[in-house]
Amino acid sequence: MEKKYTGEKNQGMRKISEELSFAERLAYLASHDELTGILNRSGFDMKVREILREAKNNGRHYAVTRWNIEDFKLLNEMFGRRDGDRILQFFPTLFKELNIPGAVFGRLESDHFVLFFDADCYDISRLGEFIDKMSHKYGLSHYVKIKVGIYYVDDFGMDIDHMIDCANIAAMTIKGKRTSCYAVFTEDMRREMVHSEEISAGLERALQKEEIEVYLQPVVDAQTKQVVGAEVLSRWNHEKKGFLNPVSFIPYLEKNGLIVKLDYYMWKKTFEILCHDQMSQHPEISLSVNMSRSMLEEERALKLLSNLMEEYKVDPKRLKVELTESTYMYCTEELTDTVQKLRKLGFAVMMDDFGTGFSSLSVLRKIPMDCLKIDISFVQDILQDKRTRMIVENVITMARELGMTTIAEGVETREQEELLCRVGCDRIQGYYHAKPMPVAEFEAKYCV
Ligand code: C2E
Ligand code: CA
Ligand code: CA
Repeated sequence: MEKKYTGEKNQGMRKISEELSFAERLAYLASHDELTGILNRSGFDMKVREILREAKNNGRHYAVTRWNIEDFKLLNEMFGRRDGDRILQFFPTLFKELNIPGAVFGRLESDHFVLFFDADCYDISRLGEFIDKMSHKYGLSHYVKIKVGIYYVDDFGMDIDHMIDCANIAAMTIKGKRTSCYAVFTEDMRREMVHSEEISAGLERALQKEEIEVYLQPVVDAQTKQVVGAEVLSRWNHEKKGFLNPVSFIPYLEKNGLIVKLDYYMWKKTFEILCHDQMSQHPEISLSVNMSRSMLEEERALKLLSNLMEEYKVDPKRLKVELTESTYMYCTEELTDTVQKLRKLGFAVMMDDFGTGFSSLSVLRKIPMDCLKIDISFVQDILQDKRTRMIVENVITMARELGMTTIAEGVETREQEELLCRVGCDRIQGYYHAKPMPVAEFEAKYCV
């Protein structure tokens, strides 16, 4: 029969603390967590340090693991605090059910728990499955999913907090899993984490010191082969890391929303470039900027664009805005609203990376845009794969009938270009014509 976990207020703890002398009681309370009755951070720290001190060179392998509940805040809101506490009080039972001899466990804070054990005594490969089985057995909601980060101790002298941090880094790499699961810490994870922090912490300085450079990649008319535009792309001359391509910094800035600052900066630079003498003499060349998803949440974004337009007196036809797949992944009112306003201001709006996401078509159905950018992955397969060719051909026809122009991106060969021209693609962007280049080089080549 299914055991129900009642999560009654921790009687054990009350009883123990009543049986102890005053001094012992103080020490006990200092090292234990009130809600669950298990060790708290300092209690766990002390106990594990003691074990590792004694275990020095005994040849055994130990693991420090950090556990937390996915979306605990949300669960608290959904079910109320009482049920939230009940879920937390389930952890001591769960740890005991693991049945690992000599294991030490504790609660750090909130829904963050720690478990230390002799890794030779437990096979972790079925840990996720075991946790879900236990939640079920004790009648906890199927919404409760637990993520476990595991750090195998390789330096017995390391701070316990540091070990917990490593386990946490591992846990943070777990994404999009629908069951409880674990991840084991690796040095690569640490490097990635440090890199991500350095990128975020260095952005402000980089913008002030102009370490971020604007690169332009030409866009060519498929028929005339004339350059009719360019995509504005960023490069970072990092003071320590050297020259960085966007893959090394954009994803991290997107994660924490700092991308908005970069986008503002790039837009301003784009207006400046459009006012250069060379560019002014080539009104047929338009520039397209990327707009990240975080920008949709920025009320100031549109205001900024219209202010820049006034300040620099640039014809809005010369600026296009590319919305990437991550932007239109959620076809929200915000998106509809932003696109409408952008178009009202006179900017053309492009759907970038068309075909990579699940939502491309449904967005297209609801939100009128001006241009569709066929993703590089289609272009790469277009010669070898008949199905890809058919899809591209039909996408181009569909776009035309919807009154949109098409750009193929990532065109690397003459054969790809010829085929795209044949099936009616309007514009071509890719290494075949030119790689992204510094602004001065672009102007020297195409604005003479
Ligand atoms: P994207 O918007 O899809 O930009 C096109 C990317 O494809 C560029 O990479 C470009 O260098 C690359 N590319 C162009 N032609 C070819 C080709 O023929 N072959 C291959 N293999 N690649 C080609 P890049 O410059 O590394 O930019 C990567 C992504 O970073 C961009 O993808 C864009 O989403 C993002 N990004 C770059 N700069 C910014 C920025 O200032 N703001 C925002 N929000 N995103 C940016
Ligand atoms: Ca783009
Ligand atoms: Ca793209």
